[in-house]
Amino acid sequence: MPVTFEIPPVATATSDVAQSDETSQQILAHGKARDLESLVETDARCGVQNYGRLAKAFVRGRGARLWDASGKEYLDFLGGIAVVTVGHSHARVAEAVTRQMNAIQHSSNIYYIEPQVELAEKLSELSGGMRAFFCNSGAEANEAALKMARKWAKQKNAAKFEIISTLDSFHGRTYASLAATGQPKYHEGFEPMPQGFKYVARNDVEALRDAVNGYTAAIMLEPVQGESGIWPMTLEFMQAARDLCDQNGAALIFDEVQCGMGRTGKFFAHQWTSIKPDIITMAKGLGNGVPIGALLARDELAAALVPGTHGCTFGGNFVSCSAALATLEVLRDENLMENAHVVGKYFESELEKWNAQTGAITEIRSHGLMVGVSLREPKAKDLMRACLEDGLVFNAVGDDILRFLPPLCITEKDVDDAMEIIARAYAAL
Ligand SMILES: *Cc1c(COP(=O)(O)O)cnc(C)c1O
Repeated sequence: MPVTFEIPPVATATSDVAQSDETSQQILAHGKARDLESLVETDARCGVQNYGRLAKAFVRGRGARLWDASGKEYLDFLGGIAVVTVGHSHARVAEAVTRQMNAIQHSSNIYYIEPQVELAEKLSELSGGMRAFFCNSGAEANEAALKMARKWAKQKNAAKFEIISTLDSFHGRTYASLAATGQPKYHEGFEPMPQGFKYVARNDVEALRDAVNGYTAAIMLEPVQGESGIWPMTLEFMQAARDLCDQNGAALIFDEVQCGMGRTGKFFAHQWTSIKPDIITMAKGLGNGVPIGALLARDELAAALVPGTHGCTFGGNFVSCSAALATLEVLRDENLMENAHVVGKYFESELEKWNAQTGAITEIRSHGLMVGVSLREPKAKDLMRACLEDGLVFNAVGDDILRFLPPLCITEKDVDDAMEIIARAYAAL
C-alpha cells in the first residue's frame, strides 16, 4: 500500500497558519541597535553559554584598530585570534567580497567554481605543488587531513590507523580533531572519544620514537603550538617526525591553522626549516575573517580521496575563496610577511627592554607576529583585563602567559603604543 498524506488546505489570510506566519515575519526582522547591557542580557537568555566572554562588543575595525559603540578606540594585538591577517575591513578584501556577492554567491562542488580553482593554484604554488581541498574551519581541515592520512595509510597496509600528536596541541573541536588535541581537559565529558589517537610530549624525540610503530598512520604537529601559549617545535623533533614517517609509511601532517599564512614571517611556519610535510592544514588567517579552511596534500596522499569519499557543501565557495585570494594579494603587495618578521623582532626587543626594568617575564617566545610571553607571576588575566580597559586587545593563556597575534600590518609605532599600555597596566596591578 502506498503511503498517502492528507494535504492541508492552503492558508488564507484569516487562518491561524497565516497569523503565525505573520508573527515569525516580525521575529525574523532585524532588531534595533542594542547597547552592551542588552547584548549581555539577551545572550545570557538565548545563547548557549559555551564561551566565557568579556563584556565588550566591537562595532568597527580598520587596520589594527577596533572601536566599541561608545567610540572608544582599541589597538588590536589579537586579530580575532590570528584571523585578521591584513587588517580589519581591508578595502581590497571588502571590495572582492562585495563584487563576488553581487555576481554569484553559491553553486555547488558538483560544478567548477572559478575562484576556488584559482585559490587552489595559488596555494599549490605556495606549497611547492600540493593539491588543495577546501572547507570552512580549522577543525574541518584537520578532520579531512586525518581521514585522508588513514585512508592512504590503510591502502598500503590495512593494519594502520594510529595518529600520534603532541600534548598541549590544539587541532579543533570536532571529534577526530578533538581526539588529536592532546589536552585531556577538552575531552572530559565527551567520551567515548574516537579510537586510535596517542600523544607524546612536544620535542621529546625519544617518546616520539617509542610511540611510532607499524600501526602508525600519521603524526600531526603544529610547527608552533598556538592555543596553549606559543610553543615552537624544535628542528630536531620535526626532523625526527619526518624520518619516522618515512621509515614507517606514515603521513606527516603540519597543522598551520594558526602559525601559517605568513604570520611567522614565511608563508608557512615550517618553511623556516627544510622539512616537507605530506599534508598541511590552514584556516584562521586565510580569509581575513571570512570563514575558510584548506587542506594541502602531496599527490600521493591526495589520491586517497576519490569521488564520494569526502566533501563539504560550503567548502571552496565563491565568497570565501574570493576573500582568500584578495587576502593573499594584499599579503604580497603590502609586504606583510616581511613586516611580520621585522615588527615581530622589534616587539621582542621592546618586551626584553621592559623586562630589564621590571623582571616581569620569564620567557619570550617570538615567531614573527606570533608572540607568547610567560610572566613570573600569575597576573596574565588581570593584565589582559587592565590593558583591555586601557585600549589594548590581546589574550591570556592560563594564569601566566600573554598571547599576541596581531594583524600583520602593525607598525613599530603600534608596538610602542602597546608597550606603553602594558607597562602602565602592569605597574598599576
Ligand atoms: C584554531 C585552531 C584550530 C581549530 O580551528 P577552528 O576554525 O576553530 O575549527 C585548529 N588548529 C589550530 C592550530 C588552531 O589554532
